[in-house]
Amino acid sequence: SDPSISPTLGAAELTALRDRARSDYAELVERGLSLDLTRGKPSPDQLDLAAGMLTLPAGGHRAADGTDTRNYGGLHGLTELREIFSGLLQVPTAQLIAGGNSSLTLMHDSVVHAMLSPLPGAGRRWADEERIAFLCPVPGYDRHFALCERFGIELIPVPMTAEGPDMDVVERLVAEDAQIKGIWCVPKYSNPDGVCYSDETVRRLAGMRTAAPDFRVFWDNAYAVHHLTDTPVEIADLLALCAESGNPDRPFIYGSTSKITFAGAGVSFFGSSPANVSWLLGHLAKSTIGPDKINHLRHVEFLRDEAGVLEHMRRHRELLRPKFDAVETILAKELGGTGLASWSTPQGGYFVSLDVLEGCAREVVRRAAEAGIALTPAGATHPYGDDPRDSTIRIAPSYPGLEELEAAITGLTVCVRLVATEKLLEGAA
Ligand code: PMP
Repeated sequence: SDPSISPTLGAAELTALRDRARSDYAELVERGLSLDLTRGKPSPDQLDLAAGMLTLPAGGHRAADGTDTRNYGGLHGLTELREIFSGLLQVPTAQLIAGGNSSLTLMHDSVVHAMLSPLPGAGRRWADEERIAFLCPVPGYDRHFALCERFGIELIPVPMTAEGPDMDVVERLVAEDAQIKGIWCVPKYSNPDGVCYSDETVRRLAGMRTAAPDFRVFWDNAYAVHHLTDTPVEIADLLALCAESGNPDRPFIYGSTSKITFAGAGVSFFGSSPANVSWLLGHLAKSTIGPDKINHLRHVEFLRDEAGVLEHMRRHRELLRPKFDAVETILAKELGGTGLASWSTPQGGYFVSLDVLEGCAREVVRRAAEAGIALTPAGATHPYGDDPRDSTIRIAPSYPGLEELEAAITGLTVCVRLVATEKLLEGAA
């Protein structure tokens, strides 16, 4: 998105646009809509794609190596499931853990264990540090920020570029501040702006000098296979590049099947260096005797292999693509050429990021709510809920049906036109 949007309209045009927006808004409120664009949830028809899983495993309860999946044990997770996801997540099978139903839990537990026990390479545990900080590329994912806030970890925003976080800023900060222990990255089809990290960005993250010996890249590859086009984006292999650069323990890699199979009953993954994997398994062993291996086996039977995952994702795309196209079409038709907003056109993932004029996002969200259209709170894409420009709005098009979505996005554009024109005319008055 373009941070320097400047309105291209003269005063007369602007006044006409505002007057039209006012009557459109009155009409919108009159309609009494009740629509929800807040969270990136799969729609019911997407979940139906995995309905066949509910009667699996059908081939017995034994894993390939004879393990009885109904019993305790197997902390690492089923090997055949880890094999399916090894290539997709760019982690060798031996260094990949398959866990429970949520990768966010694994991220949370990684932070908690780093607080309570020194990481490989650390002088001491994070809880004994006076101050801990994480870099947060913005706009970013609110749950990453909330997790850090809960443990008193300071959040330092870093601007995003079209190639990922601004690496000049990242390199400078991590080189000078040993209290910066991590950075949050959603490297492919980022939440919310759809950015994919360039090879150069990944190479610099892997090779940069950090003042902290226990610095970690929290690589949340939540949308690794969630393509919306015929040309799937490939990102560089962080784990391999870190090892090549002499920083093998730097990456913590996460993924899950939440938006592949079932969002509440999928499988999560953690991948890293052998030292980090042993470190995490050692701590996880204190909280569980093993994951739900029946669910692992169910996923293996349903997805079969890497090609099976990609084929299943093609079905998701058939359902999602028309929704993302509708968002693009409506935004372009209603706001294109006005200079009142700019937006992302993601090639995958679950979100569109809409940038409105500075100082307008909160008011747009408030007006939309008054018209029955629920949006993610403005500011949620920034640490502490504070978007200093008050301009980013996250749109989550996946859950509503197409007609509802079209009504919601059209309504949203009315709010954008209303708030932006009122603001501009107020400034001119
Ligand atoms: N990471 C990102 C970037 C996400 O967008 C989401 C879901 N919205 C998650 C993690 C949650 O993943 P899980 O369901 O595996 O906990």
